[in-house]
Amino acid sequence: MKKAYDVIIIGAGHNGLVTSAYLARQGLRVLVCEKRSVIGGAACTEEIIKGFKFSRASYLLSLFRQKIIDDLNLREHGLKYYFRDPSSYTPIKNLINNNQRSLLLSSSDNQFNMKQIAQFSKKDAENFHIYEEWLTKICRAIDELIHSPPPDLSQMNQNYKILDRFRAYNYSMKIFYNLFRKLGLNGSMDLYQLLTSTASRILDKWFESDVVKATLATDGLIGAMLGPYDSGTGYILLHHVMGGLDGRANAWCYVQGGMGGLSNAIASSARSSGVEIRINCNVNHIDIRNSKVEGIVLDNGEEIKGKIVASNATAYVTFKDLILNDIIKTNKELDELKKHILQMDYTSGTTKINLALSGLPNFLANPNKNINELQPHHQCTIHLNSESMSDLQNAYQEALNGKPSQNPLIEMVIPSSLDPTLAPKNCHVALLFTQYTPYRLPNGKQIEITKKYKENYYRNVINSIEEYAPGFEKLIIGRDMLFPSDLEEQFSLTGGNIFHGALSLDQLYSFRPAVSCSNHRTPIHGLYLCGSSTHPGGGVTGMPGFNAATVMLQDWRRNKHFLQRKYNDAIHCYNQALKQNGEKAIYYVNRALCYIKLKQWDKVYQDARHCLDLDPNYIKAHAYLGQYYIEQQRYDEAITSFKQALELSKIQNKNFGDEIQRLLRYAQKRRFSLMEQKRIENEISLQTYLRSLIQSDRERRMQLRIEKYLEEKGSTQSSTNSLSILKYYLSKMTNHHNQQTTTNLSSFVSVSPKVTTTSNIEMNIVIDQQLEQALHEIEQSTEQSLNEMNNLFNEVDIRRKRREIPEYLTCKLCYDLMRDPVITPFGITYCRSCIEENLYKVSHLDPIANKPLVVEQLVNNLVLKEIVEKFIKENEWVNSECF
Ligand SMILES: Cc1cc2nc3c(=O)[nH]c(=O)nc-3n(C[C@H](O)[C@H](O)[C@H](O)COP(=O)(O)OP(=O)(O)OC[C@H]3O[C@@H](n4cnc5c(N)ncnc54)[C@H](O)[C@@H]3O)c2cc1C
Ligand SMILES: [Zn+2]
Repeated sequence: MKKAYDVIIIGAGHNGLVTSAYLARQGLRVLVCEKRSVIGGAACTEEIIKGFKFSRASYLLSLFRQKIIDDLNLREHGLKYYFRDPSSYTPIKNLINNNQRSLLLSSSDNQFNMKQIAQFSKKDAENFHIYEEWLTKICRAIDELIHSPPPDLSQMNQNYKILDRFRAYNYSMKIFYNLFRKLGLNGSMDLYQLLTSTASRILDKWFESDVVKATLATDGLIGAMLGPYDSGTGYILLHHVMGGLDGRANAWCYVQGGMGGLSNAIASSARSSGVEIRINCNVNHIDIRNSKVEGIVLDNGEEIKGKIVASNATAYVTFKDLILNDIIKTNKELDELKKHILQMDYTSGTTKINLALSGLPNFLANPNKNINELQPHHQCTIHLNSESMSDLQNAYQEALNGKPSQNPLIEMVIPSSLDPTLAPKNCHVALLFTQYTPYRLPNGKQIEITKKYKENYYRNVINSIEEYAPGFEKLIIGRDMLFPSDLEEQFSLTGGNIFHGALSLDQLYSFRPAVSCSNHRTPIHGLYLCGSSTHPGGGVTGMPGFNAATVMLQDWRRNKHFLQRKYNDAIHCYNQALKQNGEKAIYYVNRALCYIKLKQWDKVYQDARHCLDLDPNYIKAHAYLGQYYIEQQRYDEAITSFKQALELSKIQNKNFGDEIQRLLRYAQKRRFSLMEQKRIENEISLQTYLRSLIQSDRERRMQLRIEKYLEEKGSTQSSTNSLSILKYYLSKMTNHHNQQTTTNLSSFVSVSPKVTTTSNIEMNIVIDQQLEQALHEIEQSTEQSLNEMNNLFNEVDIRRKRREIPEYLTCKLCYDLMRDPVITPFGITYCRSCIEENLYKVSHLDPIANKPLVVEQLVNNLVLKEIVEKFIKENEWVNSECF
């Protein structure tokens, strides 16, 4: 039999894996389908060159949420990472003087940093730590905003139920209130500036040295097709300093075994909770029927059923490739959404070059004493062509017209400097994150990245490195190059954008990827987004995956599948308990409740009865039995059961709130409407019977009249003839009524000569005006009798329709009309006798408000009493009916 899954996740990127692990931990059956032969998406390790393990795309861990590491026990599943100290290195190509060779920065030692920065500027050295604290404070304040699903702005729309709208407002108010509370006015203004301003303006406020500014500014440019003077780079800068691991803010680590080490640990944790992961499994499209997800269809045609599908692919891939156009076309909202998503900014200028090296590079600024001397700067992010803001801006400008940068911005890392598992002894891997290789021309046209283009760019990169570390090229054993088009082709990263869409202000938070699917839900029931196209965006954060799982679990729990499974599991537990501990009333009664939820009524009856056999005073068993009787439409028995339950709750001093009374009232109402229904049926058959009597009386009278008439005329025609005359007359009358012509019979005959047969003509001759008048009189008197009868029945009907006591006049305790209403201090009205009895026998609480109450606090509700009296006057049945 084909396996069906609760959830199918498209893509084993780190976010898809995180979602799968969280869902499986809650007992959901999860399948992950990855099109590539390795898992991890852009967080993977691949041995492209034998013996050398490359973090092919992402390579540094910092943004990943600590909570996920802990929740999923990732350390136990093999996650290990190396902290780097120092962590940032900017060699200077054109030495200004002998002291200013390079800028080395530590992630933890401020004294060291001050000394290093002081080479370039004393003021900057003083400011650096304050700047870092300033950023850290902002990052802490926005933590909640970043790490929880954004509010669904579309739910604030008038079309939504007031409660949904209120929830959405309330949620956003809470998040923003907390944010402003933490930041204060000045902090909020700083945040606003970071969000909207340029990296250069922010850094100009703090620093004067170009090297310091450029080194820090690269954080604002990574992954974006922007220069340091472009707005939007302020936020990207913030995005890259939000992280930290093991309590060390803004620390960036190498994962042991490469970035795939993280994805493998998540996958291992997921598998240990039952997740199935299939590789080489390209999802062709999502199976959607009636705007609802049914599963997926693979490239080989295989169909896999799933109640929920979550896409880890970019929003672009999901809406363009994975949802068939026929589906989109049938739904206007979806069509609009798709248009929006296809227009998102996915541009990129990133090319990743992974190199296998036979030794360590030797930097002019800090030369090695011997060929493989490992120095502190080797473990850093090595910033090349980043000595000044103009270096960065030039690299960007060179690429603006579609050509790759001559002097590209290069971030080199050599993770094998700390992790010996990545390369053979004395060999190394160098990963180059470079910019800019634009994906599109300024006119929007996609650039064709040819082999020559690639070779030219590669030369630019290597030549640049040679200027800092002569002899570098000779160390290269092998290479792997990923231009934007390769990132798109191999990793499904739309436009080569490393973040699943630019981190521009219009594509963040509730706008990511669009307002109508900002909190991971989509307009298609059961389809979710769990990749970096959603908040908080790209980077190895795990957050889109975590938030998507949170939202999906919320929905799942509300969903009947979950409830059904939960009740079945509970039933299983009670079965076990009955086996192990013997017959106990409580097991039966609890199991009966599960059966109520599953609507298995015969079993409800059996368990409630079993319970009452063991303990006849078990209140809940009586109530459950009552519910069974309601289902069977045996209302008298239901009422007896509920009354018994109520009686017992008074005796046993137990308060079930309003629940049993509500059921009792419901049973009484149902019984009454059943009786009413029977009464109506009886009345209708009576009415039909009387009508037939009146009509046969009419015909009898008419026939007598015709016979008398024939007799008077001295006709020899028999009574058979009188009968045919009558039939003829009646059929004419029916036709006549149908055609709504004049009631004059003779005129009717004359206007329809074609249908008049010879015998008809004879009869017409017979039916003269006198007879016609006589028959007409009989007709009229019959009509009158019928009208009188109908009026009589209508009157009864109107009276019956009114036979309902409005809810606001019924007591919440006895469900009867409140003839002597009293109001409690909590604004609730009951019959005096009911509430007094309740206070005396059950509890000293207002049974609905659940607050302390004494008889002295009860006040006559005079206004209501007046209304009740008026109601009784107008509805005498209240007094006569048994209700
Ligand atoms: C070159 C580069 C360097 C980066 N460096 C860093 C870094 O150092 N630190 C950092 O934090 N971030 C970095 N990033 C960003 C980060 O790697 C990504 O933003 C993040 O990994 C995206 O994760 P994801 O799970 O959302 O999606 P992805 O990793 O893109 O995963 C999506 C998965 O879906 C699969 N898929 C797509 N379509 C289908 C289909 N039809 N059927 C089956 N499977 C499908 C894909 O194959 C892929 O495995 C870098 C990115 C790149 C490209
Ligand atoms: Zn009452």
